[in-house]
Amino acid sequence: MTTHAPAVAAHDLIKTYPGGVRALDGMGITVSAGTVFGLLGPNGAGKSTTVKILTTLARPDSGSASVAGHDALRHPDRVRRAIGVVAQKSGADPVATGRENLILQGRLYGVRGAALGKRADELLDRFDLTEAAGRMVKTYSGGMQRRLDVALGLMHRPEVLFLDEPTTGLDPEARSAMWEEISRLAGDEGLTILLTTHYLEEADRLAERIAIVDRGRVVAEGTPDELKGELRGDAVHVELREAPDAVDAGLLATALGEFAGVREVTVVGRRLSARADDGPAAVPHVLTVLEQQGASVASVTVARPSLDDVYLRYAGRRFSEAEADGASGPRLAPVTADATGGAR
Ligand code: ADP
Repeated sequence: MTTHAPAVAAHDLIKTYPGGVRALDGMGITVSAGTVFGLLGPNGAGKSTTVKILTTLARPDSGSASVAGHDALRHPDRVRRAIGVVAQKSGADPVATGRENLILQGRLYGVRGAALGKRADELLDRFDLTEAAGRMVKTYSGGMQRRLDVALGLMHRPEVLFLDEPTTGLDPEARSAMWEEISRLAGDEGLTILLTTHYLEEADRLAERIAIVDRGRVVAEGTPDELKGELRGDAVHVELREAPDAVDAGLLATALGEFAGVREVTVVGRRLSARADDGPAAVPHVLTVLEQQGASVASVTVARPSLDDVYLRYAGRRFSEAEADGASGPRLAPVTADATGGAR
């Protein structure tokens, strides 16, 4: 894109499916051109519905959406020409070869002549599919099929590429290969990538900015570091051999809290937790103080804040709990401070 307009802008999207499921409830995102943006949320959060609206496959009840400078509601045809879509389900023809699929896709988008074969070969090479180019797609491994799907989405050189759950169903090795590919794509001049994922690690690794989606709206947005940085510091968890009584617990908390950089000390049963600006540096001090107070330590762990902690803070439940509940599940009460920041 030549302008500085955002590559994707959606505001106040509301979408209710028949039966009354409110899939989007004020959803909004803004994605700068040339960046990788991650929509992160548990299953049922509304990610796919957002992508369907942005890729012109669905209409919202209200709200606005523009992609590559075009209004997705008024000019869906223009948006379609400017985008590549890699859906969760492969669009490749299993009984055609990889190369045939690419050529067909290019033709559908009006790529003609020598440019067509050249682009197909370029993408086959780029996605390490040259050797398999003449084989039917049904003989490909899951990882190869996924790479071909991404190549198909890129055939007509789109400005914005949508990747819906790009690594779901892949084994760890194929997943990490796909991450490499996506990271490399992100370096392509001007290409904007919007990816949806329910893997915290995937968003953390690939996206420059992340919107955490819960129940049809964005609950937090920023770079992975900004989001984690808001939690200020590491979590230090100490397992004591014996639960101190209330008086001793209070003394321990006070003694630890006197150390600069340690705060939010809580003791619940045998478990003592605190936040520290620098967790590893705080550990020797914490151990010394506990020893001085006569508390015997069974184990100590330090955890950097994770996106799960961020999710917990904004959505009031853990990511894994939300996945298990589904969007329609009961809302759990926010977990208290002593449970934040655990190692996972
Ligand atoms: P995600 O992609 O984050 O998993 P979706 O956008 O697919 O979430 O779904 C959001 C909510 O809308 C869920 O509660 C889902 O069950 C519901 N939903 C999605 N598609 C339909 C549909 N075609 N008809 C009815 N409900 C739907």
